[in-house]
Amino acid sequence: MGKIQIMDEWLSNKIAAGEVVERPSSVVKELVENAIDAGSTSIEIFLEEAGLSSIQVVDNGSGMDEEDALKSFSRHATSKIEKEQDLFRIRTLGFRGEALASIASVSKLTLRTSDGDGGVHLYLEGGHVKEHKPTALRRGTDITIAQLFFNTPARLKYLKTIQTELGHTIDFVNRIALGYSEVAMKLVHNGQTLLQTNGRGHVQQVLAAIYGVHNAKKMLAFEGSNNDYKIHGYASLPEVTRASKNYMSLFVNGRWVKHFVIQKAITDAYHTYLPIERFPIVLLYVEGDPQLTDVNVHPAKHQVRLSKEPELLKLIEETIRAAIRNVIRIPLAEKKDKPVRVPSEQLDIWNPQKTPEPTFDATKLNTIVERLAAEPSVVKEPYAPLPVQQHLVEQAQPISTESPVSEMILPYDEPVYTEQVEPTEQSSEQKRHFPQVEIVGQIHGTYIVAQMEDGFYLIDQHAAQERIKYEFFRDKVGDVNANERQTLLMPLTFHYAADEALRLKESISALEEVGVYLEEFGHASFVVREYPTWFPKGEEQELIEELIEQVLSARKTDIKKLREDAAIMMSCKKSIKANHYLDKQQMERLIADLRNADNPFTCPHGRPVLIHFTSYEVEKMFKRVM
Ligand code: ADP
Ligand code: MG
Repeated sequence: MGKIQIMDEWLSNKIAAGEVVERPSSVVKELVENAIDAGSTSIEIFLEEAGLSSIQVVDNGSGMDEEDALKSFSRHATSKIEKEQDLFRIRTLGFRGEALASIASVSKLTLRTSDGDGGVHLYLEGGHVKEHKPTALRRGTDITIAQLFFNTPARLKYLKTIQTELGHTIDFVNRIALGYSEVAMKLVHNGQTLLQTNGRGHVQQVLAAIYGVHNAKKMLAFEGSNNDYKIHGYASLPEVTRASKNYMSLFVNGRWVKHFVIQKAITDAYHTYLPIERFPIVLLYVEGDPQLTDVNVHPAKHQVRLSKEPELLKLIEETIRAAIRNVIRIPLAEKKDKPVRVPSEQLDIWNPQKTPEPTFDATKLNTIVERLAAEPSVVKEPYAPLPVQQHLVEQAQPISTESPVSEMILPYDEPVYTEQVEPTEQSSEQKRHFPQVEIVGQIHGTYIVAQMEDGFYLIDQHAAQERIKYEFFRDKVGDVNANERQTLLMPLTFHYAADEALRLKESISALEEVGVYLEEFGHASFVVREYPTWFPKGEEQELIEELIEQVLSARKTDIKKLREDAAIMMSCKKSIKANHYLDKQQMERLIADLRNADNPFTCPHGRPVLIHFTSYEVEKMFKRVM
């Protein structure tokens, strides 16, 4: 007798469930997609314990009659495709007809549904119908999944913490809400509303609900088309960045998909406007003939194969780049140009008329745009030494003519950049080596030229000041609790996406270690009512945002590293940049402060502060010596 047997439907459903139903968020995904396919204009999702104890999805879509309701739990039962041809013009989110069968096979499921003409109530355990009765219900579907994986304990073991599982679901709901701004969505976890959109089709409202009004205001609208595709969306100003690529969301014909090449095209569009390893928040909607977009690549359906991809990539990159260039014109070669002022009406951003959001402040955006536009030009602030350095200025250091710097960098070589900041500072022995130099002058408003007996130095004034400030802040951050705090009249507020807020709540004590005292304020907002008196003046909000980002982007919080990063961030604020002319006194003060630094030779990023040209090397270049 042959050994091969055809599996019964129940077993094959359980196996398929492994593919489709990985974790609570995959159940939410399938149910919400079904609700969308059913034409719902309102979808409510209620979770208990991140969906591990229960997931309920209530929609006002087409509903099902009794016959369909029963059929919907058989494998490959779908109302969405009939023949092979349909596979090539899929307009719905579902089409495999597997989800309900798979979900039912690993849970206790209650379905109440009505097509407007009577209603049916079904209860299934492990895929078997246990209850079947009529019910009174308005048109729509209400489905509850209780005790997910109750009969597959092995699956349960793979689940992570409640926070992680919830994070996955929030992430999905955020994306679907962005993809379907015309559907009112609500996500409630243990009785707390985490996201609510109004369903009026304003992507900006959804953006504000997810990322906070503050960030939504900094999103630029864009649109473009070629012969095959139409694209539109929103791209954040380069100042709003994230440490992860996850915030670039792509929707192809309404379906959220992952597409690394498109993500790359988006970041290429920003080119040098983005700091290294930072990514924008972008929403990109691509519409094209379904024949050009093949979604039948993977059961979870979040991959897509695109025809005419190179043309599409070009369209995306050029359209987004043009949108950004339009507001930020900072070509390096045209430094002397006046900053471009962009009236806020030109930016299609959050519009207070459309939605009841009272806090829009157009002048603030203008200030940001102006600041961005003015960035590379001359810094107006004079060099002001930090208070801590002043008392040290008097203590002259013994001088040695043997500078370790000459070994470090050769004048005619590319400077050697160290990757990492040296965590252990130079010993006081090395401190003594800082050369006694006489200032000759300044070139290009950037480098100080200083001479000594056996040659001369070029000192990068920006790097020098960063080093001085870094050591100042490092000492302050190292002893945060001893510092005085300043109470604010108007607390600073910070808004985050619900998943970010969850992680942030876990990091509140870590942030206190660097002087950021966050208090929860609503479910995804935080306030800061006080901060240390020595925080860089006028840049407190920005600094706190950067520190929060740092914590959010780190996989695990390392307090020592966070302190180090904090001191570096603070030292970068308001340091004298290139193109700033210093008078002799200012230069002398800078060099004196530098001489007192623990490690005056590199900036906190590891770049050299000064380069030594020995007389011998110079003479060799002029072929005066051999
Ligand atoms: P698919 O979505 O791939 O067709 P599913 O197993 O997810 O497969 O659903 C099976 C069928 O059940 C769908 O094709 C649809 O006809 C019906 N259905 C599922 N959920 C809903 C809903 N919320 N409203 C109306 N019909 C639904
Ligand atoms: Mg489906």
